[in-house]
Amino acid sequence: MIRPIVKDVFLLGKKATRATRADIPVADDLLDTLRANAEACVGMAANMIGVPKSIIVFRDDDDNCREMFNPTLIAGFEQFETEEGCLSLAGVRKTKRYRFITVTYETRDGKKKKESFFGFTAQIIQHELDHLNGIII
Ligand SMILES: [Zn+2]
Repeated sequence: MIRPIVKDVFLLGKKATRATRADIPVADDLLDTLRANAEACVGMAANMIGVPKSIIVFRDDDDNCREMFNPTLIAGFEQFETEEGCLSLAGVRKTKRYRFITVTYETRDGKKKKESFFGFTAQIIQHELDHLNGIII
């Protein structure tokens, strides 16, 4: 189900809590909402649709929509300064990101994974991880 995008800074400032299999419908809604906003959006965190659970979705370099439950950044290399926009905010803001990252996460079935990303995909994931921590660019 496509959900409205939360723009309330107070709600967006809440830290996400651990996601479980019971939150699979939240991931499905996030994927639907990401696809519905394809022209303006490359990634979303669950609190952007009003659910403070640790789930993110994003579009990867191959244009596939991916999801992660309980993602954690475990390594980052080559920090650089950049500008980003956000569906929950107007305009763009300056921020610092790593060019290369490694994250751990779980699949919707609870399988633990470790994966590395670089470039734009790495940047999207860092933006969404910030959302989970209640940080907006
Ligand atoms: Zn955002």
